[in-house]
Amino acid sequence: MDKNFNMIIGIDDTDSKEGMCTTYLAAVLIGKLKQYGRIDGYPLLIRLNPNIKYKTRGNAAIALPFELKNRDEVEKVKKITIETIEKMAVFSEENTNPGVVFIEETREEMKSDLALFSLRAVQDVLEIGEALELLKLYGISHKSFKNGRGLIGALAAAGFALCGLSDSTYELIAYRERNRWGTLREIDENSVWESAGIAGTWDTVDHENERIVFAPHTPDPILFGIRGKSESEVFRAFSIIKSEPVERHVVYKTNQNTDMHLVHANICEIRDDRSYVLSGKVKTFPKTIEGGHVFFELTDGTSLDCAAFEPTKGFRGIVRQLRPGDEVTVYGSVKDNTLNLEKLKITSLNRQELKNPLCCGKRMKSRGRGQGYRCEKCGAIKKEQEMVTIHRNISLGFYEVPPCARRHLSKPLIRFREPQAVSSCGH
Ligand code: ATP
Repeated sequence: MDKNFNMIIGIDDTDSKEGMCTTYLAAVLIGKLKQYGRIDGYPLLIRLNPNIKYKTRGNAAIALPFELKNRDEVEKVKKITIETIEKMAVFSEENTNPGVVFIEETREEMKSDLALFSLRAVQDVLEIGEALELLKLYGISHKSFKNGRGLIGALAAAGFALCGLSDSTYELIAYRERNRWGTLREIDENSVWESAGIAGTWDTVDHENERIVFAPHTPDPILFGIRGKSESEVFRAFSIIKSEPVERHVVYKTNQNTDMHLVHANICEIRDDRSYVLSGKVKTFPKTIEGGHVFFELTDGTSLDCAAFEPTKGFRGIVRQLRPGDEVTVYGSVKDNTLNLEKLKITSLNRQELKNPLCCGKRMKSRGRGQGYRCEKCGAIKKEQEMVTIHRNISLGFYEVPPCARRHLSKPLIRFREPQAVSSCGH
């Protein structure tokens, strides 16, 4: 056997809403490539900017760090990869524009350029030209189909495989037998609730809303996915699940649940389609509009609407308790100049409220604009309202949307160390 030789294969944009999934293509490819070498570490499942309009579902891309048995088989591995994409990608879908990159050698400056590109693919909106420029500059071999947009995700995922992830979690994805695609998933519910008890795993179920959330309802090949902090934990949970036959499964290392999409900023700096951590004061009382969506205005000198939409369920109850003057940090994506809340940290509660003066055991009545207040019982008159301390029904702390509304990249509170972490979901 020749000296081991490494290459990174990055793949994106092969799926459609009607079926398929880039992770499944990768899982099949891993099987096909077994005879030529092995995955060096883990395959990577990278979630890119969740606000990209071209995404099919979760804006996922894949990277396979591959250790070849024989250097002479590089071209063969590339050929098999491209053939697998040609065979499995859903080319009929207008929005499917596959891309694949093969990183075969690295230079230091390439690492820093790719690290930046990859992070920007998670936090920013990129052009296809930016990917093409880097591919050309560093002579990275690649293949694109249709408009080639998939090269953005493919290069970004490969970049993370090359440069490493600053924070990561694991997901074991179990895939269905092909003849069952599109049919109802057969999964024993009791076994799912039992497996959800394995420490170090999360988002298998949503306790507050009494729902199983680890299985999609779409016609794609995924049976379910178990998320956790290490391979051993997700495997332990997997071993408990009783279900229809699992055709194959893969444990991915991933940037899911790391908050990698969030950028700390001031409100005046924000742009649509990016995600932020912003601190400020609540400016307006929250209001609930038709459909159950809750909005309030946040200010740090500049104002911004923040929203807890209906699918965030019980989390809205926390948001509704906010009052002007409360100091908060909000986490979420900005769309149409509104921040879609993923988490909320309440750092200070405004317990002061201006009220009409108290007299004879009752609040005085206003005498009209600028004319002070009068006691209805004794007739006493006072000019000003008075500041009173009020009781608040919420506590300082960190709150999050429930698992049924969690975005792939959002870091759950159980991954934070802060001892004051409080969940709206009661767990
Ligand atoms: P699935 O989750 O089922 O794999 P998807 O939601 O990942 O599907 P894709 O089909 O991969 O969606 O489509 C996303 C497209 O957007 C890809 O072509 C990808 O290269 C591109 N893309 C990803 N991130 C960015 C970004 N930050 N800027 C511009 N384009 C991006």
